[in-house]
Amino acid sequence: MEKIYVCKELHTRMQKLARQYPQFIHLDVIGSSHDGREIFSLTMGNPRKVLFCTAGIHGRESINPIILIQIMEEYARAYQQKLPIQGQTDTVYELLREYGICFVPLVNPDGYEIASRGFSQIQNPKLRQELQLQDIPAKEWKCNARGVDINRNFPCQSYRPQSSGDSPASEKETKALIHLFHSCDSVGYIDFHSRGKIIYYYRQAMSGAYNQYSRKLAKYLQGLSNYEIGGADSEFYTPYSGGNSVNYYSEVLKKPALTVETVEETASFPLHTKYRKETYEEIHAIPLGILSQIADAAEGLL
Ligand SMILES: [Zn+2]
Repeated sequence: MEKIYVCKELHTRMQKLARQYPQFIHLDVIGSSHDGREIFSLTMGNPRKVLFCTAGIHGRESINPIILIQIMEEYARAYQQKLPIQGQTDTVYELLREYGICFVPLVNPDGYEIASRGFSQIQNPKLRQELQLQDIPAKEWKCNARGVDINRNFPCQSYRPQSSGDSPASEKETKALIHLFHSCDSVGYIDFHSRGKIIYYYRQAMSGAYNQYSRKLAKYLQGLSNYEIGGADSEFYTPYSGGNSVNYYSEVLKKPALTVETVEETASFPLHTKYRKETYEEIHAIPLGILSQIADAAEGLL
């Protein structure tokens, strides 16, 4: 639990998982970063009707990527042994026969490498040179290798340019995720971040009925994680906080899109490995839990 994983090791671990369980796990490369790192997705169960789970959009939020991989490993074992996950009545096998989970544990591999190991990890000399002119210390780096915050880059109603010359979906990482969202049918989306143990469900651009349903799901996740629920007034920190992946997904796909923020708000960056075990316990039942709720809703049980 103490190890700091480099990007390549995370990829190796996902490749191993896909090799170990080829009957129900599928590994894909969904795109690459501006510094040439591959972005991987791993789909478990039915690939035609998935829940998307992403992490690592912000470089410095460095513990969620490995935790998502550990969650996949736990689910894969439970699937094979036909066991339930904590708090669930369905077995992983039953649920993932009908639905799938598509994990993208590290959307922003360049940002992750910068925050964990410094600007020197960027191989493209031009990008590296520009990064070194920035005022922000590497360990607090949220953006990609071009200095763009991917979570402000999605085309949607709340998109605002962060600086002159900014345009929506300008980044390769953003495009990869958008392409993935449209590559198969999906039932919902959870994006994991690390700022204050809170679940945000409210989407300003969406209808009352949409938000009511999302709130029900958030309440259920609160029961699993003990996290707070962010109210309707807390969707954005500032008027410039829009353009998130969850805004895009909700507006275009019109399915629930929740943000789950792990780790206490005062934690410093990059996140200490001591948070890993506790965070894992808090969130490991979330992807399967939300899927069981969505399955119940589809059968009219919710
Ligand atoms: Zn974040």
